[in-house]
Amino acid sequence: MCGRVEHRVTAVSHGAVASLFAYAALPPIGSPVARVAITVAVGLATAPTSGGKCSPDADQFGSWKKWDRRIPDELLLCGGPMRHRGISHWWGLPAAATWGLHEACTRLPLLLAVLLLIVAGLPLLGWWSHLWSDLWIGGQYLGGKRPEADDPAGAWDRKSTMDADDHPRGPGIPLFPWWGHVGLGWRVGSVGEWVYVLATTIVGGAAVYGAWRGVILPTWSLPAAGIAAAAVVVLGTVNSIQGLPARTRARRATRRRLAA
Ligand SMILES: [Zn+2]
Repeated sequence: MCGRVEHRVTAVSHGAVASLFAYAALPPIGSPVARVAITVAVGLATAPTSGGKCSPDADQFGSWKKWDRRIPDELLLCGGPMRHRGISHWWGLPAAATWGLHEACTRLPLLLAVLLLIVAGLPLLGWWSHLWSDLWIGGQYLGGKRPEADDPAGAWDRKSTMDADDHPRGPGIPLFPWWGHVGLGWRVGSVGEWVYVLATTIVGGAAVYGAWRGVILPTWSLPAAGIAAAAVVVLGTVNSIQGLPARTRARRATRRRLAA
C-alpha cells in the first residue's frame, strides 16, 4: 500500500502490540492510565517512519527519483536498487539494524537500553511495519508505462537498459536486495486492503485495552508471531511464483519495445 496514509494507521497498531511485549520484559508498571499512555505513545512514535518521506517509500519522492534518473543503477539489472520497492523496501537493512540494536541493548544498563529503544527502536518498528504491510498489499507490476509520461526530461533515452520504474516486478517486497519480490499481492485500494487495515486497527484497539487491563502476553506469543509471519512469507512466495510467466512475457515485450 505504498504512498498511502493507511501505513500510519497500521503502524500505530503494530506499535501498540509491541508495547505489550515490552511490558513483559520491563519492571511492572502499576497504573492502568500510565500503561495505556505508554502504549498509545509507542504506537504514535512508530508512525513517522511507517509512511512518507522517512519510510521505505522515500523511493517515491522527488530527490530520490532525481538521483535515480542520474545514476545508471539499472546496469545492476532487475531495474536497479533505486527502483520503487527496490533496496529501500528490502528487509535485510532493518534486519541488520535490529541485530545491531539487540547487540547494543544486551550490553547496556537497562535505562540506557530503554533510551536507545525509544530513539532507534521505535523508528525501526515503523520501518518494519511498512514492509510488513507491503508484503500483503501491492500487486505485481508488468511494466508497459509510457516512458515520456514519467520522464519529461528525456532521461529515458540516456538509460542503457530498461527504466527503473518500468521493469516488471513481482508482488510485495524484495526477498533479495532489489529483486525476487514476494507478497500476497492484494491490490492497493481493494477490499482486501481495507479488510487488512480494519483487522490491524482492531488488533491495535485490543492492545490498548490489554494495556488497560494489565495483560501480560504469554512467552510463546513471540515465536507464534514469528511462525505466522513465516507462513505469510511462504504464501507470498507461492503467489510470486504463480505470477512469474506473466512477468517473463511482459519483460520480453518491454525489451522488444525498447529495441524498436
Ligand atoms: Zn512501500
